[in-house]
Amino acid sequence: LRSLLFVHKIVRDMGCDKKMAEILISCQNISKSYENLLVLEKISQEINSGTFYSISGESGSGKSTLLHLLGLLDTPTAGEIYMHNQAASSMKAKQLLAVRRKTIGFVFQSYHLNHLLTAMENVMLPMYINPEYTSSEMKTGAAELLASVGLEHRKSHLAKDLSGGEKQRVAIARALANDPDCILADEPTGNLDKKNETVIFDIFKKLAAEGKALVVISHNENVVDIADENYRLNNGILEELL
Ligand code: ADP
Ligand code: MG
Repeated sequence: LRSLLFVHKIVRDMGCDKKMAEILISCQNISKSYENLLVLEKISQEINSGTFYSISGESGSGKSTLLHLLGLLDTPTAGEIYMHNQAASSMKAKQLLAVRRKTIGFVFQSYHLNHLLTAMENVMLPMYINPEYTSSEMKTGAAELLASVGLEHRKSHLAKDLSGGEKQRVAIARALANDPDCILADEPTGNLDKKNETVIFDIFKKLAAEGKALVVISHNENVVDIADENYRLNNGILEELL
C-alpha cells in the first residue's frame, strides 16, 4: 500500500497539464505553543502556485493558527517560514509587509466587509495602500474583479444590502485586489448554504487553474473532491488525506 500511495503522489506531483509550480510559502519544522499548550508540532509543508489545498480538523485543532502562520500574521515558536524563499524571521517589518502584500490575500468566515461602503469601495480599499494605482485604475480593477466573481450587477450596492454569498464574493474580490499569489481562507463557507458554497469553491478552483495557490480551511466534505490536496490537522500534526 505504501508504494501505491507513493506512485499516486509522484503522478500527482508531476502535474503534467500544469505549468511548473512555484513554491510560494515553505514551512520547515514549525511548532506553535500558547503558554503550555502545544498547538502545532514540527509541521513542514510547501504551498505551491496553481494548487488548491484544503485543511480540515476538529474545532481547536489549530487550523486558524496555522493559517495565520502561513500568512505571516503570527510567528512560530520554533521552525522557520519562507515566503518567496525569504526567511520570515530575517525580514524587517517593512519588508515583511511588502512580501505579505505581494503574496497573500485573506478571506474570513464572517466576510469582514465595511457595511457602509459599496461593493466597489470595499474592493478598492486595499488598493489605496498601493501607490502604483491611479484612481481610475482602481475603479477599473475593482469592477473587473467584481465581474470575475459574477457581481457586475451588484457593484454599486452597499455591502450591508448583499446576501451572504454575495458578501463572500466581494470579500474574495477584495482579497484579490493587489493580485496576490495565494489566497488563505478560514472557513469561507461556514455561514453559507450548499448552493453558495459551490459557487465559492468554483471560484477558488478557477483561481487555482489561473495559477493562484488556495489554502482553504473547511469542514465540508465536498471540498475533498474539489481541492488538489487535502490535509487534516490532528494532535498538532498535519497529515495528508490520500
Ligand atoms: P481551530 O481554528 O482549529 O478551531 P485555533 O487555531 O483557533 O483552532 O486554536 C487552536 C488552539 O489554540 C485552541 O485550543 C485555542 O483555544 C488556542 N488558542 C488560539 N489562539 C490563542 C491565543 N491567542 N492564546 C492562547 N490560546 C490560543
Ligand atoms: Mg478556526
